[in-house]
Amino acid sequence: MSQTPFTIQRAAVIGAGTMGRGIVMCLANAGVPVQWVDNNPQMLEQALASVADTYAHSVRQGRIDQAEADARLARVTAAADYAAIREVDLVIEAVYENLELKQKIFRELDGLLKPEAILASNTSALDIDAIAAATRRPQQVLGLHFFSPAHIMKLLEIVRGAQTLPVVLEAALGLGKRMGKVSVVSGNCHGFIGNRMLRPYVLEARKMLLEGAYPYQVDAVLQGFGFAMGPFRMYDVVGIDLEWRARQLAGIGQDAPEVQVDNRLCELGRFGQKSGNGYYHYEPGSRQAEHDVEVDALVLKVSEELGFQRREISPEEILERCLLALVNEGAKILQEGIAESAHDIDLVYLNGYGFPADKGGPMAWADQQGLADIHQRLLALETKQGDQWNPARLIGELAAVGKGFADR
Ligand code: NAD
Repeated sequence: MSQTPFTIQRAAVIGAGTMGRGIVMCLANAGVPVQWVDNNPQMLEQALASVADTYAHSVRQGRIDQAEADARLARVTAAADYAAIREVDLVIEAVYENLELKQKIFRELDGLLKPEAILASNTSALDIDAIAAATRRPQQVLGLHFFSPAHIMKLLEIVRGAQTLPVVLEAALGLGKRMGKVSVVSGNCHGFIGNRMLRPYVLEARKMLLEGAYPYQVDAVLQGFGFAMGPFRMYDVVGIDLEWRARQLAGIGQDAPEVQVDNRLCELGRFGQKSGNGYYHYEPGSRQAEHDVEVDALVLKVSEELGFQRREISPEEILERCLLALVNEGAKILQEGIAESAHDIDLVYLNGYGFPADKGGPMAWADQQGLADIHQRLLALETKQGDQWNPARLIGELAAVGKGFADR
């Protein structure tokens, strides 16, 4: 591929599930003709109908006129196989989260597509370099991590592989702009910026359920701080079963104490909003999360069975542990060069994870507290709760010279 700027004129999407549908609309809305492939023809047919429905709904709502809806829909065509998409400039893959499957698809596409075409994966966490290694064009492979629902959520994480060319990143950034996204470039690590930080944050929330808190209390504290949703409401929206099934498939992580509440909920078919029950109850057709005493009873039972001596967890402790878990991981991401700036991390959390806008993002919030203060608070947690709170090296270094993440 030459080093000259490259504009994506035609694209293809592989996978017509939740994410594929939103991504196809992002492209079509930005004026990019898109061909759509799914190995399940019924799924593709349903997905085309659902895109048409979404546009019809937008017309009824007065957001776009009929001519615009027709033009957008006309840009979306079903493709029978990979051979039919050989002329596109970009393919975005959004099939199941499975490395071998993604590698197989990338290998096949690599053999068929024109040499300058870019191959992107919408994986939430998998290794982009391992996907790129299945091709002979790793310099033209990258992650394009959209958030659900992809046609609505503003954030786009653009994941740079070890060999991704700058010109390929620029093409992706250009496309992000045309789609009206807030694009943030991330290095390649498990979960990239957003989902990597989410792990320790959710881990603290889950641990506190076992130690004495209830889901509604944890969510109330974080929503009180200004988050659009607390972690348990978020799991209900995403589907508690996704991680449960992934743990089952991988055969790891299912015995960890902190996922036992999730496991029990899933065994009861309480997958979240989509099944009417999860951490909360939902009346048919409603997205209103209602406190469910059965869930409190289940949390109590699981923690007692695991031998926890429950104690009162204060709102201050809930906030401290969840926020400091985010900040400490964010600092590691920054010191490793996965994120280019603290501001980028904040953009990810503001636009993809419902962090309160008035606090400026987790890193800006930490700067407002003062990093010397954050450092002390992490050390205090480390003394009480162990090594997982060991402060990121960068926090100590910046605190020592009176600087913040933003000064770096
Ligand atoms: P999904 O299960 O809704 O859809 C997957 C689609 O891929 C299905 O339509 C299936 O028929 C199709 N498919 C499977 N194998 C195929 C193949 N060999 N060729 C063509 N099509 C094939 O999945 P999803 O939730 O849309 O997730 C897709 C990807 O996006 C995953 O990597 C996931 O981790 C990632 N992701 C999901 C979310 C989310 O909230 N759902 C958010 C960000 C990223």
